[in-house]
Amino acid sequence: MIIVQKFGGTSVGTVERIKNVARRCLATQRQGHKVAVIVSAMSGETNRLLGLAQQMHVEPDERELDVIASTGEQVSVGLLALAIHAEGGKAVSLLGHQIRVLTDSAFARARIRDVEGQAIEEAFAQNKIAVIAGFQGVDDAGNITTLGRGGSDTSAVAVAAALKADVCEIYTDVDGVYTADPNVVPNARKVDRISYEEMLELASLGAKVLQIRSVEFGMKYAVPIHVRSSFNDNEGTWVVPEEKAMEAVLVSGVTATKDESKITMVGISDATGIHSKVFRPLADAGVGVDTIVQALSAEGRTDLTFTVSKGDSKRARDLLVKHCSDFCPPDHIRTVENLSKVSIVGVGMRSHAGVALKMFEALAKENIYIHLISTSEIKISCVIDGKYSELAVRALHDAFELGS
Ligand code: ADP
Ligand code: ASP
Ligand code: MG
Repeated sequence: MIIVQKFGGTSVGTVERIKNVARRCLATQRQGHKVAVIVSAMSGETNRLLGLAQQMHVEPDERELDVIASTGEQVSVGLLALAIHAEGGKAVSLLGHQIRVLTDSAFARARIRDVEGQAIEEAFAQNKIAVIAGFQGVDDAGNITTLGRGGSDTSAVAVAAALKADVCEIYTDVDGVYTADPNVVPNARKVDRISYEEMLELASLGAKVLQIRSVEFGMKYAVPIHVRSSFNDNEGTWVVPEEKAMEAVLVSGVTATKDESKITMVGISDATGIHSKVFRPLADAGVGVDTIVQALSAEGRTDLTFTVSKGDSKRARDLLVKHCSDFCPPDHIRTVENLSKVSIVGVGMRSHAGVALKMFEALAKENIYIHLISTSEIKISCVIDGKYSELAVRALHDAFELGS
């Protein structure tokens, strides 16, 4: 079999842990498999590197940021290759440009276009473990790019897809995907199997155990993903196509994002075309907009509310003041900071009524005010005050009886 293993920051956080990783992938190879290992930077290292850049410039150039941030993974692959040699094994380290993980040129959030697997095949042909730097790629012009925070997951699944691997194992610091972040909800339960669709929602709604794009890749190329612990041999969570039994479960997970801001444009004209005047300047500036809600406030007037990430909130306001003053004076633009979006996710929602009601009741019971609500086929999200985020997650986890 071809097995791809990915080890996250904590799993390669110390020399001792890297030695453990070496032993684990050698054990896999000795069972007769071809092994490609993707590693992240040692825990804390990417933050440290980005912090250094920040000390040089308040708004660092993103191309240079990627040159800096990508070095964390370069150290990890070199160390792991040496650790495998020390155990008597054969391994070669490979960086993004050596495999050729081809990406677009969106520095700091690049998308993978193609993975050329030849260097990996060559390593396999020589009985070597291919030790691959996660998080990094190269654009058409040869610039180093990175895939966004948590991007090594995506490196791993993309390599697994390119190699047509039998499994992509994501080794991390928890035993698998849980019904809620086990570091927030102590009685959260490990899920044995979860559908790509549910995992996609959980990842995009705050469960950082897998980067969203890794799940997208897995789904598109049908890569079975096994999320498991690097500290034990327990069976983890399989992310797989939807199965009949999954529908029986109403909610499979609760999650939350933090640091959202709500912007309301109060009493603007509800004329046709007004929305493009609001959202065009934001889109042109690359400000991502999330939940959007509009409510008529008086005849011909509407309150238009939407959320952006905290980091974008000031910029968004400035853009609206600049571009929308003819129909919305600056004092009609209201911003509320420090919000959180809590969400429940489950394919079972498609066929059950009353799920939203149960969610609202659980939040009401804790006296949590709901700013905004959004739904899709398999999720319901409520925007609430950030300080209640963890309380809300625990309350919903209890209300849907997800605990062990
Ligand atoms: P790595 O460094 O291995 O990539 P991450 O820190 O990116 O690890 O992801 C693992 C973390 O994701 C866990 O420690 C946990 O706190 C968090 N997490 C959030 N939601 C969930 C969830 N539903 N199931 C499992 N882990 C979750
Ligand atoms: N080291 C990178 C980060 O911290 C990539 C990863 O860990 O997946 O975001
Ligand atoms: Mg991660």
